[in-house]
Amino acid sequence: MKKRVLILGAGFAGLELATSLSETHGDGVAVTVIDKSDAFVFGYSKLDLLFGRATAEAVSLPYREFVKLGVTWKRETITAIDPATRTVTTNVGKHDADILVIALGADYDVSTTPGVVLGDNEFYSVAGATHLAAVLPSFTRGHAVIGVCAAPYKCPPAPSECALMLHDYLSARGVRGNCQITLVNPLPSPVPPSPDTSAALIAAFAERNIEYLPNHRIASVDRGRKLVVLEDGRELPCDLFLGVPKNRAPDVVVAAGLTQDGWVTVDPRTLETKFPGVYAVGDLASTGAPKAGVFAESAARAVAANITALLRQQAPTAKNPGAGSCYIEFGDNRVARVDVDFFSGPKPTGIFHDPSQALRADKQEFGRTRRARWFGRTS
Ligand SMILES: Cc1cc2nc3c(=O)[nH]c(=O)nc-3n(C[C@H](O)[C@H](O)[C@H](O)COP(=O)(O)OP(=O)(O)OC[C@H]3O[C@@H](n4cnc5c(N)ncnc54)[C@H](O)[C@@H]3O)c2cc1C
Repeated sequence: MKKRVLILGAGFAGLELATSLSETHGDGVAVTVIDKSDAFVFGYSKLDLLFGRATAEAVSLPYREFVKLGVTWKRETITAIDPATRTVTTNVGKHDADILVIALGADYDVSTTPGVVLGDNEFYSVAGATHLAAVLPSFTRGHAVIGVCAAPYKCPPAPSECALMLHDYLSARGVRGNCQITLVNPLPSPVPPSPDTSAALIAAFAERNIEYLPNHRIASVDRGRKLVVLEDGRELPCDLFLGVPKNRAPDVVVAAGLTQDGWVTVDPRTLETKFPGVYAVGDLASTGAPKAGVFAESAARAVAANITALLRQQAPTAKNPGAGSCYIEFGDNRVARVDVDFFSGPKPTGIFHDPSQALRADKQEFGRTRRARWFGRTS
């Protein structure tokens, strides 16, 4: 009988894992991927949605196009996970696995930040970015606050990108002079592992008259009084709030007893949980590396290699590199890059590459290669 590999979640991690296993084993292994959505959307596409550069339809990659030998895709919602028996319950039924990989990403939690509403004043979901895209054209004067509710959150540079893109958006409409932009972030610098990247972003904020408040968290948003309240009690005027909600592991993995301090406990280098044959990969896993697609993808490749070794009764030797390149929208149609490495040295490092048009082309190539590899798209 074929070995059954069950992958929960078809995001960066799940798509890369299933693709790698199909490449190596064809239909020699029975891989099943379960996801509740009908399409994948790159995280960075939410910024394109927010600023009207793309439509939700244009950035959605339907899972019906994710066709791989040996891989069955199921659109179901996972409601329970028993890691001890590797049994998964969904809204449709039960699935058993020889090897279980949990790649359900991070969910959003607004319960601790009054006034932040999912799908409304946050840009981290497709619904929220789409809604705010419809609100932005009516913002012609006043105070915009880009606010992060808690760390850790997906893609640490994204709020900085949002601030720079908002500056361009308002400038292009001729209303920047009537508007103030403030960025509130609990992190001590925009991209902590890379002082050069942080310095370049802080300089870009200063050039554009964007107020930057590091080491501050959003406590609440008071729409009636048009205020944002910070954790230290300080109040900021706010006519437009572009929020990053608190991120957390999905309830279903918390209920499965897989988490500690809110995230799934794993060996950072192998992504193994304490349960035999059960891995957790991507944003929900506590590895010490950032919550970003590139890190989820390279971790998934290591897991695929180790699953292959196990299936061939060899020793698993692959290691999650904890390294990757993140593209950063810098405004003026330019993109910068930071090459981050979390595991090689005694402390994380990040090498900064100045913003350029050439790096915009690199970012487009990053998306193109994934669309081609996972969805067979030619453009
Ligand atoms: C604004 C923004 C910009 C970003 N920019 C970048 C960037 O430039 N570069 C980068 O590398 N990363 C970026 N990211 C981060 C990136 O999108 C995530 O880190 C990445 O998607 C994580 O991959 P994952 O596989 O862990 O989870 P995800 O890609 O989130 O996939 C998880 C999947 O699990 C499914 N799921 C969840 N719960 C259930 C359930 N109960 N039942 C069934 N299915 C379920 C979801 O539908 C989803 O498809 C950005 C994110 C945002 C929000």
